[in-house]
Amino acid sequence: MSEQNSRVDVAIVGGGIAGMACAFHLQEKAASEGKPVAYALLERSDRWGGKLRTERIDGYGDAPFIVEAGPDSFITQKPWGLQLARQLGLESEFLPTNDHKRKTFVLHKGRPAAMPDGVLLIVPTKFTPFALTPLISPWGKLRMGMDLFIPAKKDDSDETLAGFIERRLGREALDKIAEPLLSGIYNAEAEKQSMMATFPRFREMEKQHGSLMRGMLASMRARLTAPKPNGANGSKPMSMFMSLAGGMERLIDALHPRLTGDCRLNTGVQSIARNGEGYRLELSDGGTLDADAIVLAVPTYVAGPLLAEIAPEAAAGLDEIRYVSTGTISFAYKRDELDHPLDGFGVVIPRSENRPINAITWTSTKFDQRAPDGYALLRVFFGGSRSPEMMQRSDEEIEQIARQELKAIMDIDATPLFHRIFRWQNATPQYDVGHLERVAAIEAALPAGLHLTGSPYRGIGIPDCIHQGQQAAEKILDSSD
Ligand SMILES: Cc1cc2nc3c(=O)[nH]c(=O)nc-3n(C[C@H](O)[C@H](O)[C@H](O)COP(=O)(O)OP(=O)(O)OC[C@H]3O[C@@H](n4cnc5c(N)ncnc54)[C@H](O)[C@@H]3O)c2cc1C
Repeated sequence: MSEQNSRVDVAIVGGGIAGMACAFHLQEKAASEGKPVAYALLERSDRWGGKLRTERIDGYGDAPFIVEAGPDSFITQKPWGLQLARQLGLESEFLPTNDHKRKTFVLHKGRPAAMPDGVLLIVPTKFTPFALTPLISPWGKLRMGMDLFIPAKKDDSDETLAGFIERRLGREALDKIAEPLLSGIYNAEAEKQSMMATFPRFREMEKQHGSLMRGMLASMRARLTAPKPNGANGSKPMSMFMSLAGGMERLIDALHPRLTGDCRLNTGVQSIARNGEGYRLELSDGGTLDADAIVLAVPTYVAGPLLAEIAPEAAAGLDEIRYVSTGTISFAYKRDELDHPLDGFGVVIPRSENRPINAITWTSTKFDQRAPDGYALLRVFFGGSRSPEMMQRSDEEIEQIARQELKAIMDIDATPLFHRIFRWQNATPQYDVGHLERVAAIEAALPAGLHLTGSPYRGIGIPDCIHQGQQAAEKILDSSD
């Protein structure tokens, strides 16, 4: 136990990607402005990176299996992930998704049905494949087509994803496409999920073009006529999602050594009190740390109690943000023991199919370098609000159920070479309808010098978490001018 007291300008609590990106930006920007800032980055667990975690498994063939515990890639349309990776010199490790093999299947009456070619997220943009798909009934297709005639919502108030999709495209589009794809990304319930916090672009499209289909076609046309988005050096085309050859944890491996502040593992923050103009943090090692400013890059159920004394109104708001627990199990196989063609990125499973799992990613098709030559890697997702009971199951039960599902859905009954289970308890914040107003009210109730950042607030994906961390750093630097 350390009884020591120390002092910094800024204490950053939480060593996930948001806290680390905040620390790095603070350090680099402050140095470039010639006003260095002393900071501490405090992480409760014994490793950096939070949900970015990769396991490398050797011993099969000439290359390792790369098994992701958390995220497998990040979106490139939001620039902050790519920018940070480039800044860290990771460009040569960029691993795009295999877009020429991109095909998504939707479980339909127990079997995978291909999402019709030309369906962009939720909106059909090509007539023939959409007309021919068995996934949506003739009436459902007609109803989706009514999107062209239904007037746009006039006001800017939030609504649920279910409300929005039903309003524009009908119930079947919600059930078969939007719910598994769009709510699936957030592990959310479409009936609670905030449209403005999760897919504001669709509302923008509706407002601007009066119809999602017209909006989607317009953005396709704009993309075709715009200069091609480029990769690293202006030559490689950029994929919509990017990973890193050694796995997502490479981002953390590259980021951590660049941090020059006081970075401490196994150091949880237990309480925060006022200390004159600044704050005093009580640490799990028995020490204390004084700081002028604090960034909390931890889940809201950690941040709330820490703020209960010094910012009770903000703490009460934080208490309203729900979390769900999720898990994944990855299976490795010899490729020739699977009859399945693995001709796509995987299967998403609508809630209405009532299965104990939520999705299956065909990892070794989605990316190269995830399995050695002659092997395959699959990843099954479970938990969340669709199959919460799975989180109570033992590892043996999860393995057994997931294998039964692979048999039922993909006819796989080969014995896997190995499997890896990762459980994420209370790890996924839920952006329920009204989320952005809730976050704004929490932020408005924070005393000077206190900042909240990371996945619970304004974007759950890695680029958004990086961006929010950087914004917190900017606010601190701006307030010190
Ligand atoms: C299974 C899964 C798959 C995902 N897939 C993708 C994907 O493909 N693409 C994508 O962009 N995003 C994906 N995400 C989401 C993304 O990974 C997360 O939103 C993001 O990593 C969260 O980062 P964060 O820094 O906000 O939080 P975290 O990573 O949760 O970090 C918070 C840190 O705070 C620490 N901490 C907690 N309490 C304390 C305390 N009292 N004192 C000190 N430290 C504390 C924790 O130990 C943790 O390290 C996925 C998430 C999961 C779980």
